[in-house]
Amino acid sequence: MTSLSLPDTRMLIDASRVPLDHGRTITVTSPIDGSHLAEVADATAAQVHDAISAAERAFVSWRKVSGSERARLLHRLADLIDRNSDELALLETTDNGKLLRETSTQARFAARNYRFFAGAADKLYGHTVPLDGWDTFDYTSREPVGVAVLITAWNSPMQLLANKLAPALAAGCTVVVKPSEIAPLTTLRLANLVAEAGFPDGVVNIVTGGLEAGVALTTDPRVGRISFTGSVATGQAIGRAAAGTLVPVTLELGGKSANIVFEDADLDRAVTGAVAGIFAAGGQTCIAGSRLLVHDSIADIVTERIADIARRIIIGDPRADTTQMGPVASALQQERILSMVNDAFVDGSRLLVGGGVPDNPSLPAGSYVQPTIFTEVAPESRLAQQEVFGPVLAVTRFHDEEEAIAIANGTEFGLASGVWTKDLSRAHRVARELVAGTVWVNTYRYSAAQAPFGGVKRSGYGRERGLEALDEYLRTKNVLIDLSDTVRDPFAIKA
Ligand code: NAD
Repeated sequence: MTSLSLPDTRMLIDASRVPLDHGRTITVTSPIDGSHLAEVADATAAQVHDAISAAERAFVSWRKVSGSERARLLHRLADLIDRNSDELALLETTDNGKLLRETSTQARFAARNYRFFAGAADKLYGHTVPLDGWDTFDYTSREPVGVAVLITAWNSPMQLLANKLAPALAAGCTVVVKPSEIAPLTTLRLANLVAEAGFPDGVVNIVTGGLEAGVALTTDPRVGRISFTGSVATGQAIGRAAAGTLVPVTLELGGKSANIVFEDADLDRAVTGAVAGIFAAGGQTCIAGSRLLVHDSIADIVTERIADIARRIIIGDPRADTTQMGPVASALQQERILSMVNDAFVDGSRLLVGGGVPDNPSLPAGSYVQPTIFTEVAPESRLAQQEVFGPVLAVTRFHDEEEAIAIANGTEFGLASGVWTKDLSRAHRVARELVAGTVWVNTYRYSAAQAPFGGVKRSGYGRERGLEALDEYLRTKNVLIDLSDTVRDPFAIKA
């Protein structure tokens, strides 16, 4: 069995580890039992400035490195992640409380992402452009945007980073990464793997910290792209900050995704999909299927079957094979979830399962929450409108397809959605009408390196994964060459 190995927690700037200033550190604890794991730097604005300078210097030569060489390095990084995946998974589980079998899958998925973008690194073709004038030659080239700032959330640090770092490096950008202060350890561990893979000094820089670091990263005009995953409120703050510098931003924010079960669905699969949507990872995923919309004719049976599974979910140590739900990531997160549960009562929803902290004296002193299901949730209520980011399911009945679509689209979010039906026409019809970045049909929480992912409305903008992700880190240059050797009229535009 793999034993926990804590990484070097110092920041990485220009291939050097920055000594910790013990007056400015953030304590990292494990949500499993509240134990102390590490101290990490709370970066100052000056340190962030240094990291961006290092990335800027490294870009001067990195932009000339061939796509095939970038691909070779990305493949090596993927191999190293695979080789160290048990260690990385255990570290991430200890840091954020997610099940070990989930973080193990995410480590392999991260490696898959690096490989996918390695495959794209030497295929960043431009076009030749056929203009109207015969005596012209016009072409486009796709150039890296320069320094990319990559800021991630705590719920899936390895995977969220791979979503950004793999396309950024494939595109030829240098980067400054900032993981969440709540779960920074696998990102800091990756610093060693990046060096071992052979990336040149300064191509990947890693800073840790909170607000000061975040603000410094998102107000620096030298940056070519900010890619952020996190909450809507922080996304809005970053959007406002970036408006000052006009640095383009990719925002991967929250969700209130609807899992819609029609009367003709395969109920075994739909029930499993609903459970996967909300209780996997304790509901702490942006794509959580936190709203179950179910046809009136099958609502009682479907809800009771999900409730039956929820009541028997094994809560405990996320490192154990038998555990199905671990703790939520922090005591603060637990408090937020319980306060939203309380709001649901006030809004008149009916509690069917859970609603509190597990009554199990053998659980360690971590932040645990019971799987919770509310029924009769009004579409306009807070539970149906606001992201909980915890294991709380809101069940609402619908009577026909039109109503299901209207309720599904009736929030400020638009990240993901699930459709459960055996009717092929209905599946396509509903998929077309849903205002969401991802629609899953007869499945839920299915991610692929090749498939673009992202949100609409308050779930954000821009895409990660898939070839679309490269566009976030590239810009198009147009080069027009006049082949005519003629002298033009200087006072009229040539068109
Ligand atoms: P958060 O917004 O609190 O923090 C995210 C990151 O932003 C952290 O690294 C944090 O230090 C940094 N940050 C905080 N203030 C900042 C500022 N003013 N400027 C720059 N950076 C700043 O989010 P969180 O609590 O870590 O994550 C949970 C949220 O993330 C949920 O809403 C969830 O839905 C969302 N999320 C979205 C996706 C997606 O792909 N759409 C994936 C995972 C999580």
